[in-house]
Amino acid sequence: MSIHEECGVFGVFSPRQEDVAGLVYYGLFSLQHRGQESCGIVVNDDGVFTSHKGLGLVGEVFTQETLQKFPQGELAVGHVRYGTTGGNHLSNCQPIQVNHLKGKLAVAHNGNLSNALPLRQELELSGAIFHSTSDTETIAYVITRERIAAPSIQEAVGRAMDRLEGAYSLVLMSSTKLIAVRDPHGFRPLCYGQMENGTYVVSSESCGLRAVGASFIRDVLPGEILTFDREGVHSDQRRCNTAPHKLCIFEHIYFARPDSVIEGVSVHDARMRAGDLLAKTHPVDADIVIGVPDSGLDAAMGYSRASGIPYGIGLIKNKYIGRTFISPGQDHRVDQVRIKLSPVESEVQGKRVVMIDDSIVRGTTSARLVRLLRSAGAKEIHMRISAPPFLNPCYYGTDIDSRDHLIACHHSVEEIAEIIGVDSLGYLPLENLKDLCGNSDYCCACFSGLYPTAIPEDTRKDQFEEKLSVAKGKK
Ligand code: SF4
Repeated sequence: MSIHEECGVFGVFSPRQEDVAGLVYYGLFSLQHRGQESCGIVVNDDGVFTSHKGLGLVGEVFTQETLQKFPQGELAVGHVRYGTTGGNHLSNCQPIQVNHLKGKLAVAHNGNLSNALPLRQELELSGAIFHSTSDTETIAYVITRERIAAPSIQEAVGRAMDRLEGAYSLVLMSSTKLIAVRDPHGFRPLCYGQMENGTYVVSSESCGLRAVGASFIRDVLPGEILTFDREGVHSDQRRCNTAPHKLCIFEHIYFARPDSVIEGVSVHDARMRAGDLLAKTHPVDADIVIGVPDSGLDAAMGYSRASGIPYGIGLIKNKYIGRTFISPGQDHRVDQVRIKLSPVESEVQGKRVVMIDDSIVRGTTSARLVRLLRSAGAKEIHMRISAPPFLNPCYYGTDIDSRDHLIACHHSVEEIAEIIGVDSLGYLPLENLKDLCGNSDYCCACFSGLYPTAIPEDTRKDQFEEKLSVAKGKK
């Protein structure tokens, strides 16, 4: 699997003035699976913003020393990033901060705007100067422009929403307020909860709430603007139900953590159901069912339960491979998949193995995994995928970006089976996707090609970097 998650956002409103940076730090740790390129925290102490951001994992960027430099505060926001628009530069780290005529704003964004380019061009033509190449700065600009005429920051956010298209789950922090926002389609998850001491917490996933001991209250509704301040919690639902609900189905299949619950559906249960459906649609005689760690494990349990074939741990993942893993030299004979995943010989030797994974992108990783299992003595390998084949790019915050790289766009299922070297291959049928979560209120565009919004003109991740290069005379 080589598709990357998008981002994770986290926010805290604590009327008690406590160690809000510490709370965000714990929250970001639990959301690390959503982005490993960079991270950041901004704390608001009585209108004074203090921030620390950097490239790397939460544990690498924040030390005891950096965390102690944050003041106690009432408000804080944090972000973990995997960039889908804009490269991995310090200038693209979030939360983004802006000073404007009426105050300050920090923005943490999960998703991807589908009209970022025309919006940015319009802003630049009217004199805006951008410091980063991410679409989040465009969101910050649109909100602050609207704030000039709007009576409140919430009203400015609402007016900005009328101009933004695509996927955005936002946690915003003004001088006095924490604001949680979800686009009207609700592509990306966002929820909030409360700690026993009254502190409110907003998180991309419910696992983030649990990490700080907060109780889940509810999901932020698609199109809702939820504001936390000293007067309490206010919900503006004027933009709810203005677009079809389209939560990304791939959150349940791959992105989210299995212990999270999104819109009332347990991610673990949805993956178990995928395995169950695979067992019914693609049965096979076998001795053992194994999952590719981590996101294939739950579906493998579901397949095992439905088929009666025993579940086993056939592959072990090296948990210590992070962003900093490098090849020590030019010698490419050492397969990196081998470093990351290792077969458990005693489990697979001489057996007919069903191996469950969440997707096949290019097929190269799957082929390497199959070779590993064969070298460990697996007699037969039957691969089952807990999603339909990827046939289309994603414009809503993941890096499924080109049909050229998607093996299913160029080969039949039988051909893919031959290329990756398995005895049989079966995908979850497209018509069964709705059964994972019990309804069809989901975006499935990368499988079906049915996009909920207009497709953007320019879909390259580096679209703004190229523009900057042209401006600097580099092209
Ligand atoms: S296109 Fe695919 S990955 Fe992108 S939001 Fe839709 S379902 Fe999710």
